[in-house]
Amino acid sequence: MAENRRLRRWITSGDKLVDWIFARIIHALNYKIEAIYLKRVLHEVRGGKGIEYYGYIDDDIIYLSAAKTKHSDRRAIAKTLLHEVMHYVFSGIHERNILRLEDLVWEKLSEEQIAILKSYVPRHIVKISDTA
Ligand SMILES: [Zn+2]
Repeated sequence: MAENRRLRRWITSGDKLVDWIFARIIHALNYKIEAIYLKRVLHEVRGGKGIEYYGYIDDDIIYLSAAKTKHSDRRAIAKTLLHEVMHYVFSGIHERNILRLEDLVWEKLSEEQIAILKSYVPRHIVKISDTA
């Protein structure tokens, strides 16, 4: 109990709503999201047009792009990870509102919270073509 309280204080953003959302995000990452894959590029051809993604979630599996054109570093990938998990936590919420929520939460997260999110970003790129 005391350990939990200390941890909770350590990871606080100073904003109770943001901390509540962060707790939902971490709970989803720990217990709901089946896998997180980092891929060299997330590319799809749709209607004859090539689309490159930052990330996406499909069947509780998250795919993140390692492409430098999309993310300059692991911190940037962690922000996309936050976005994709938000699609799980706030399912049914429109993309533009998820984007808004992502920005609002991200700017309030503490460095410790961002470090925790970064720890969920895979270290290695997977080569298998899971995106089809
Ligand atoms: Zn989205």
